[in-house]
Amino acid sequence: MFGNYSFPPKTYFEIASLGYLLVLYLISFHDSDRNKIRSYKIFRYLEVNMLLALIVSIMTYTFAFPESGTPIPVCTLLRTLDSIMCVMASRIFAIYLLTYVDTEGRYKTISLIGNILFATYLALMILNLPFKFILWYTPDGTYMHGSLFVPIVFSAPVFYLTSGILTLIIRIKTLGPREKLALSIASFVTLFGTIIQAATDGVILLSLPFGSIGIFVLYFSLETADYHQLLKNNKRLVLAEQDAIKANRAKSDFLASMSHEIRTPLNAVLGMDELILIETDPDKEQDPTIIKRIRGYAENIKDAGQVLLSVINDILDLTKIESGKMDIKPVPYRLNELVRDVGTMISIKAEQKGLTYTQTIDPRIPDRLVGDELRIRQIMINLLNNAVKYTDSGKVEMAISEKEQTDSGLTLCIRVKDTGIGIRNEDLPYIFGDFQRLDEERNKQIEGTGLGLSIVKRMIGLMNGDINVVSKYGEGSVFTAMIPQEINKNPGTNVSADGKNKNPGKAITYHTPKCNYLVVDDSNMNLIVATRFLQKIKGNVETAHSGGEALEKMRSSKYDVIFMDHMMPDPDGIRTYELSRKDPDNLNLDTPMIMMTANALSGMREEYLKIGFTDYISKPIELAELLRVIKLHIPEDLIEEIGEDSDH
Ligand code: ADP
Repeated sequence: MFGNYSFPPKTYFEIASLGYLLVLYLISFHDSDRNKIRSYKIFRYLEVNMLLALIVSIMTYTFAFPESGTPIPVCTLLRTLDSIMCVMASRIFAIYLLTYVDTEGRYKTISLIGNILFATYLALMILNLPFKFILWYTPDGTYMHGSLFVPIVFSAPVFYLTSGILTLIIRIKTLGPREKLALSIASFVTLFGTIIQAATDGVILLSLPFGSIGIFVLYFSLETADYHQLLKNNKRLVLAEQDAIKANRAKSDFLASMSHEIRTPLNAVLGMDELILIETDPDKEQDPTIIKRIRGYAENIKDAGQVLLSVINDILDLTKIESGKMDIKPVPYRLNELVRDVGTMISIKAEQKGLTYTQTIDPRIPDRLVGDELRIRQIMINLLNNAVKYTDSGKVEMAISEKEQTDSGLTLCIRVKDTGIGIRNEDLPYIFGDFQRLDEERNKQIEGTGLGLSIVKRMIGLMNGDINVVSKYGEGSVFTAMIPQEINKNPGTNVSADGKNKNPGKAITYHTPKCNYLVVDDSNMNLIVATRFLQKIKGNVETAHSGGEALEKMRSSKYDVIFMDHMMPDPDGIRTYELSRKDPDNLNLDTPMIMMTANALSGMREEYLKIGFTDYISKPIELAELLRVIKLHIPEDLIEEIGEDSDH
């Protein structure tokens, strides 16, 4: 019954393959989103190429016989095209394999050889048409192969398939289980079909049908939309996991470095305190030398406390910047005053280390400027502190110059130069990173968190400025900060940005002997500090250890100012405020209530004022700041001006 069919029986496998491949083509119909995935894109080329190869092959084995009436040139063309399509299929298949096994682009040479081979093969096939040395038809219609047929027609596909399979074997470990199985099955099935076809000298046409089976395997195991989605999700998960690990590591590093930075000064505080307790006896009159020593301990405690505070301020600053809450608050200020203040502080430190400190200001810069004085001070101090910290001998210089002065503004250039240890070239790119301490081996003895410069850089960024560093290892460094500032055209009163008196020795300018204060705080220490400060201005102070106790006191006494802590066990400061305002027996409904808290994050002041507090003071409190705030809120007749007083 076969004889009744018009097709020679040899192409049955190919016709069947063409059918199921067409179905596959329709299933996997164009999906523009997935076309961005490289493997899928090449898969689509492979699919289309295989369809065309099957069509050409079926036509060749059906019509390329001159005895059935097809002209000889058409027969030759069909045979040539059939060979080209097969070789192209194996080429694309090899490229497809490489997308999985060669994600790092290691096998570029193999790809290059593959391309050269393909170009040579194409050239030879075209040359074959006039010169007839690979395949041709004799004038009587006999189909002929030259001795070059096998090497030329088979060498390229054999190279592609074997090199593809070899790289697959070498790189098998880098593949997931599904990829391993799918790629191996598809490769071996295709290779098997090609070998059978070659071994039977084209009598059994299995190369393309088996290749089509390979394509099916690839589609349903690696190229379905579901699987791509799965891969995408997995990739996201891996990235998220890496981020989480990184964040966790950064957190651990941060905690380790912070606990070290905090423990060091704390250790000094506790040690000195213990010495005071050992060396003092409440029952004995103290000898002046012991008192002197104790004052020395107290000074050390103060220094350590200040270091501690600066570490915590650094953390707060970084948190503020990170959460976008650090605002730049421009105020009018005097540059010369600012530089003088900073200079006084740094020159003491430099002197203690035996360094020379000099500072210069270009006289052309106007003295009265508008900018965030507090942040500029912080930037100068940070750069100068580092210069002193990382310099053992020689000098530290600060030079202030200007750039681009216009009518209304200028760019302030703050140049801090030292003759210190310098920074290695390879470390320079990391110097402004968070927690970046460089040259750790050498800097082990020098205290630091690696936060200072990162905060400086970010603050300068917030002010639209820039900072750079030039350094020679072993010779010294120069940091240059450039910060745009406005020129103060109508100078009025010169309020300092923080409103704080920078000379606490001169803070007490008035007394309040008729003033009654209530301080509410659950920490005894804080109550002692606040009480002592208020007694310095001769105030009458009562204290309450909780919100409840404060409410009681507000019912029995009238105060002129109430200082309220926020974080206390129930009720906290805010709740106490609210309860007090609703309490009909409260004698202090119109008494200014000032929030006095360690909650110093930016924006908190506004929050507390919104709730109804009269003002806000952040802890640790400073005498000058306390006095400034009190003066704002008590009636004038309670204030007795005394002029400047150094006794405090
Ligand atoms: P740290 O708290 O460690 O001083 P910084 O962020 O201020 O943190 O500085 C980061 C690192 O940059 C320092 O650990 C130090 O290695 C290097 N560095 C900063 N300033 C200088 C300088 N003037 N000379 C040499 N090295 C410096």
